[in-house]
Amino acid sequence: MEKLPYERPYIKRLTPGAMNKFGSHSGAQPFKHIDGVQVTNLIAAYGSPLFVLSETQIRRNYRSAYRAFSTRYPKVQFAWSYKTNYLNAVCQIFHSEGSWAEVVSGFEYRKALGNGVAGNKIIFNGPSKSKEDLMLAIENDSLIHIDHLEELNLLITLSENLTDKPRVAIRVNMDTGIFPAWDRFGFNYENGEAWNALTKVVASGKLRLTGLHCHIGTYIQSTSAFGIAATKLADLALRCKTVLDQTIEYLDLGGGFPSMNTLKGAYLPGTDTLPSIDDFAEEICNKLINSDFAPNELPLLILESGRALIDDAGYLLGTVLANKRLADGKRATVVDFGVNILFTSFWYDHQISPAQDFSPHTENMAIYGPLCMNIDVIRENINLPLLNPGDHLVVHKVGAYNMTQWMQFITFRPAVVLIDERQNIHLIKAAETLDYIEENENVPGHLKAK
Ligand SMILES: *Cc1c(COP(=O)(O)O)cnc(C)c1O
Repeated sequence: MEKLPYERPYIKRLTPGAMNKFGSHSGAQPFKHIDGVQVTNLIAAYGSPLFVLSETQIRRNYRSAYRAFSTRYPKVQFAWSYKTNYLNAVCQIFHSEGSWAEVVSGFEYRKALGNGVAGNKIIFNGPSKSKEDLMLAIENDSLIHIDHLEELNLLITLSENLTDKPRVAIRVNMDTGIFPAWDRFGFNYENGEAWNALTKVVASGKLRLTGLHCHIGTYIQSTSAFGIAATKLADLALRCKTVLDQTIEYLDLGGGFPSMNTLKGAYLPGTDTLPSIDDFAEEICNKLINSDFAPNELPLLILESGRALIDDAGYLLGTVLANKRLADGKRATVVDFGVNILFTSFWYDHQISPAQDFSPHTENMAIYGPLCMNIDVIRENINLPLLNPGDHLVVHKVGAYNMTQWMQFITFRPAVVLIDERQNIHLIKAAETLDYIEENENVPGHLKAK
């Protein structure tokens, strides 16, 4: 038998109500493999910290979400939300599954073109589209989702001398019973602003009104909010038909389904409390099918789901740097990844597993990142086995938003690898280097080192 590592004895204050003198069992299991690939081998080959994405899991998520909707509604189209994770390899997985692209800036729009997405399969959302962006989108026959009146007026001006009318939708915001309501994007439903905008689009005679869009929020934990959104969009679409004589070809319900992460402060884990994609699909599709559309005139249903499709396909591997006792006696473990690359640790209590065997001793501890910043807290409190410097850790469900919102600060941003369905490992983004970071810098002549 392998010799167990030595762990020095320690004295620990007992918490009343705990199971035994070692405290309650942490439930932690060593997590040694991702899709059959050994975690320690990944770190040895690509360094620590390291983001790992599972192609198998991404495809599985996409297919089950598509199945949830397409088995309940006749016409369904997903569009990958680029800002959730726009590494090109990730986008290409979604596109190969049939996903269109959903972009929210000129930068993302050009990225989608670069990924070979046909212009008429790019949905252009967001409050900031320049004149050049809009011209490009018009030339490519993309679906332009109007956010505000300035944009609507600009589009009308740009379309003055065009023979083909640009395809547009308006973004609608509304009260769906969740707080806070996202009323800063698009036009409001309840106060009639959305209807005014629709009338203006049609009255201009320059634009082709093809759809209605909403994105009511993110990590939404109630299915009924989506039911309300579907009902209100359907109502607008039916009024467009009867009052404005405009057929709305699609209703885009946006994204916002939760991933199975646990929100900070939640009493129970997300896996126990959150509705599934099937629950959301049931609610949305029921509302649309039971609205006043004739069955053969049901509009295409578009979904822009982001985090729910990728969060659990992403892992962050890291290494323990040190342990210490805080002044109040609490254990703290310092690791080599900080909140600058794991932005979502501000929102979630991320599940963290040791990547190697451990002894049964567990203790409540804080996990701190390597930044010289007090806010660099990965977990304020987590019950984990005692970890030693050099031990590896796996943070779960980090595929959404971290690889787009990560910030270069004090350290290099790490590499990202993809494990494909045959267990081959691909470096899809190399770690940063000093040259890369300084590439666009310029030191004026009089300040150059002599
Ligand atoms: C961010 C965003 C999405 C994706 O949101 P999730 O909550 O990650 O599903 C979809 N549509 C729009 C317009 C967005 O801004």
